[in-house]
Amino acid sequence: MKPEQFPEHIRPHLVPRPKGDLYYKCLGCGAGYPVKKLLYVCPACDAVLMLHNRNQEDLHKIEGTTWQQIFDYRRMLKIPALKGIYRYHEFIGPVIPLESIIYLGEGHTPVVEASGFLTEKVGLRFYFKNDGQNPSASFKDRGMASALSSIKFLLDQGLVSDVIAVCASTGDTSAAAALYASYLRPLIKSAVLLPHKKVTVQQLSQPLGSGAKVFEIPGVFDDCMKIVEHLSTRYSVVLLNSKNAWRILGQESYSYEIAQDFDWDMARKVVVVPIGNAGNISAIMNGFLKFFKAGIINQLPKIIGVQSEHADPVYQYYLEPDESKRVFTPVDTKPSVAQAAMIGNPVSMPRVVAIAKEYNQESGHDNVFFVQVTEQAIMDWQLTANQNGHIACTQGGECLAGLVKSRAMGLVSSDETAVLNATAHAIKFSEFQDLYFKNKIPDAYHIVPDPDRMNLPELITPDNPDLVPSQEKRLGKSEFAQFIAEISGKIAHKMHLTSAD
Ligand SMILES: *Cc1c(COP(=O)(O)O)cnc(C)c1O
Ligand SMILES: [Zn+2]
Repeated sequence: MKPEQFPEHIRPHLVPRPKGDLYYKCLGCGAGYPVKKLLYVCPACDAVLMLHNRNQEDLHKIEGTTWQQIFDYRRMLKIPALKGIYRYHEFIGPVIPLESIIYLGEGHTPVVEASGFLTEKVGLRFYFKNDGQNPSASFKDRGMASALSSIKFLLDQGLVSDVIAVCASTGDTSAAAALYASYLRPLIKSAVLLPHKKVTVQQLSQPLGSGAKVFEIPGVFDDCMKIVEHLSTRYSVVLLNSKNAWRILGQESYSYEIAQDFDWDMARKVVVVPIGNAGNISAIMNGFLKFFKAGIINQLPKIIGVQSEHADPVYQYYLEPDESKRVFTPVDTKPSVAQAAMIGNPVSMPRVVAIAKEYNQESGHDNVFFVQVTEQAIMDWQLTANQNGHIACTQGGECLAGLVKSRAMGLVSSDETAVLNATAHAIKFSEFQDLYFKNKIPDAYHIVPDPDRMNLPELITPDNPDLVPSQEKRLGKSEFAQFIAEISGKIAHKMHLTSAD
């Protein structure tokens, strides 16, 4: 539909113009800083930052129901800049002009309901939101679209040049960073730091394929992060980790999409998120808060953050019920199949603490919960999900394990509806599936494969080993017919097929 064909009251809002007054706000001392400069931590107190809009209240002058219509009508536009996370421009990055927006197909990922069979098994209705269907196959593209659009905005104004972007990663951040940075070649070059042997083959191939410089570092993610922080304080580099507040802003789109997917009705909804560096859960809570304050949704959904017992610093922090007694202590991680969330010292911990508190206050009751799951449950539920029509990664499996745990603990009831974050595509993490099926998961994971869930290919060969077709030597007509009949017979026998007539 063309802009002139939309209803009159929507038309002025349909194609957004740069507006608003964004600034970095320090979560420690409250100081504010302009966004015309690259900034990751507060120069005064070193705490992490959030992006705020000084004119956020202006957005509340438009009725919530009008906003709903604006976003529903925007869905029909054919303007590329508004096809992704910037459909929610006023809430995602109001200062960015459409010309500076990078759109590579991110956002608006499918929400797929669990089958009747799986729903029965779990005990309540639930959906996977497939963020693995983003361009680099994880949710990280949401934040990267935002971060790289903000850099393009600075480049377009001549405020920065010859950008060198760096990040540390458990695999998916580097894939997303390298992809989005490569789109801005030659204005921007990227380098990524990965913990040696702690990312999957697929994840390693992604930044290499996008042409980024890839450095492998001995140690775990938390060690890589320290090196990147060291680099960013001493050299002129752009940091693309979730310390970068633009990443958080872009990832808020996940919540806006859930609101729109469920026709703005958040009653009895539960949003389940795996936690690693804690950027995503911060963004998701913040997104719902912004829509709630603008009257676009009239309730805040329940939030459940899930961590593996092998990397659970956020869960441990919240075990203490008395807020004034809580102390954050980083943990040393143990090997986890939810490898993308295997982080012992989350950068966004101060964001979680501040935002979860506000979320509970605005909800009028406790509405943010943290659960811990075993490695065994993560693997078993991932495989169960995928054997019932889903494409969840191990972190998606972690969400489902977390939902099952929450149900058992009485945190959710059978009349609620859950939305689970399948944060990456299953194929990025197929190595763990492979190890499980081959019964070769190292002991440190504490996973024993369930024979009912294991699945291996079976090679079917003819009794006469010479009677096989190959590219070099094709079989004669009758030999080939014999081959087809013999192999078919063997498959029919194994599958207990009955004859068609
Ligand atoms: C990064 C990542 C996570 C963890 O998200 P945080 O924002 O670091 O908490 C979970 N799953 C996948 C697939 C990821 O790539
Ligand atoms: Zn500060």
